[in-house]
Amino acid sequence: MDMSTKGRALLKVIVLGDSGVGKTSLMNQYVYKKFSQQYKATIGADFVTKELQVDDKLVTLQIWDTAGQERFQSLGAAFYRGADCCVLVYDVNVLRSFETLNNWHEEFLKQADPIDPDAFPFILLGNKIDVDGGNSRVVSQKKAMDWCVSKGNIPYFETSAKEDYNVDEAFLCVAKTALATE
Ligand code: GDP
Ligand code: MG
Repeated sequence: MDMSTKGRALLKVIVLGDSGVGKTSLMNQYVYKKFSQQYKATIGADFVTKELQVDDKLVTLQIWDTAGQERFQSLGAAFYRGADCCVLVYDVNVLRSFETLNNWHEEFLKQADPIDPDAFPFILLGNKIDVDGGNSRVVSQKKAMDWCVSKGNIPYFETSAKEDYNVDEAFLCVAKTALATE
């Protein structure tokens, strides 16, 4: 984290998870308040920024998205370097995207190589809870929460990028968690 002046912080946030789980959509909803049904491979900027107030601190979140490279898992060191928080995303309707969380968690720790891996702030988002009124979900809240406990009490949010459900709350937690471990 960079602290330019007292009461200000720049936090680097990495968003990881299988292709199609809604990483780009969550970021677009959070930063631009927009949602698109169309599936577009992420192009352009490596990151987007969003300012928010956390208690008496002005925080700038620099949120890094993957440009489709998540299929190959070769994101490169620059992508991970200096991360303050890692947001893991899965789709509650796709079992495989939940099962690969272990790989993403492991991959992040390996690449980012934080000083204290056990204390590094992760957040888990179970996205697309709106789909089919919840009838097509295959990963229960309990199962997700058990996984979070097994990784050292990672905070968990169920979200919908489409309906803008819990998106602000999740990223506020990202900022707070990253600040707390500074
Ligand atoms: P990414 O590959 O992880 O970046 O996933 P995208 O953000 O590109 O989303 C993949 C597809 O899922 C797109 O068609 C999105 O419109 C759709 N999507 C993303 N989030 C949600 C959500 O919360 N609910 C629903 N119903 N669709 C979503
Ligand atoms: Mg994307």
